[in-house]
Amino acid sequence: MCAVNHSDPNTVPNDGATAPPADLMPVVPGYESLGPNGENRFCVVDLVSDQKLRTQLKFTCHVLSIPAIAEELAQEAFIKYASSKCCYSSKPAKEMVFTDLQSLNTYRYRLETFTESRTTEWDSEPYNGQVVDGFGVAPAPWSIPVPIPSLFQDCKKSVRVPHTSTVKGCHSCLNLGRSACSRCVNSGRTRCGSCSGMGRTSSDQRCIMCQGSGMIRCHSCGGVGSITCKTCKGQGKLLCFIKLKMTWKNNMNVAVIDKGSGFPVELLDQITGERLLTDMAAVVYPVVSFPDSSVNAASESAVREHQAQFATTCRILQQRQTIELIPITRVHYAWNEKTHIYFVYGTEHKVYTKDYPAKCCCCSIL
Ligand SMILES: [Zn+2]
Ligand SMILES: [Zn+2]
Ligand SMILES: [Zn+2]
Repeated sequence: MCAVNHSDPNTVPNDGATAPPADLMPVVPGYESLGPNGENRFCVVDLVSDQKLRTQLKFTCHVLSIPAIAEELAQEAFIKYASSKCCYSSKPAKEMVFTDLQSLNTYRYRLETFTESRTTEWDSEPYNGQVVDGFGVAPAPWSIPVPIPSLFQDCKKSVRVPHTSTVKGCHSCLNLGRSACSRCVNSGRTRCGSCSGMGRTSSDQRCIMCQGSGMIRCHSCGGVGSITCKTCKGQGKLLCFIKLKMTWKNNMNVAVIDKGSGFPVELLDQITGERLLTDMAAVVYPVVSFPDSSVNAASESAVREHQAQFATTCRILQQRQTIELIPITRVHYAWNEKTHIYFVYGTEHKVYTKDYPAKCCCCSIL
């Protein structure tokens, strides 16, 4: 039987560039940059920097000094942690004696800047008589109303720019609607895979697949020698138009105030804290009155950084800043005449320790 299974060269995935080359396209007022060497980007300066609008955020101080976790909770979390590890004995967690619990609560500041950027490019679709919106002045890219799908979520969308449509002959097939079959090179026949084109099998029988001719009908084009043009879907004509592409992106800046306690702060990425502040506006102003000045500094630099980064390259639609208090307790305990340390962190009471005293040997192999 025929074992040849080449991939069909006519089904090479289209790279998406179905529009004719930009230098074949008309110049649309306001979209001159879509030419062959056009810089296809829109810069919008939309920065509100009126410091008078700066809002002072007030904080209540009592939430800022949460004590260390209670001993029972710390031990409960530790026992749970030990039993979740396959080779840890829970003995130390059950028998330990507390020597000290220190509160190392820390703050997490987060700034989210939700931006929209717009780019344009020529695009096309097969023309089969649909309405051609080619008259009138094309609106400028930023004056085209496009509803925002949802705030603070990445998303992409594209729309057609009104009044930019035009009908063109298909550049891929030179208006024929069909292109040459690349498997049989227009002949409609390919070499028989069963007999490798010899017409006879290895036992010197006449090949039944090709009746001895060595050639079979090309299965890519059905023997016709050409295939329907993929660009115009056989129409020979294209409806070309300018496509406006919107990209919505939520840009994040997170700062955790590290207390230098030896706790790896990257563990806090997955952890929930207690929300102390949520401030949302078209443009937020740096927090200035938080009792811990390093949070104010983190806010100041994040807001400044995002303004510098985004205000001139895209449009800032919304900003949100939050401050969370993340509970961390460092627990010192004694077991088997030695002292050890572990941390309980997050409202989930997760545990982190470097030196659990009773692991069996297989853990060190793993
Ligand atoms: Zn063919
Ligand atoms: Zn054959
Ligand atoms: Zn075509």
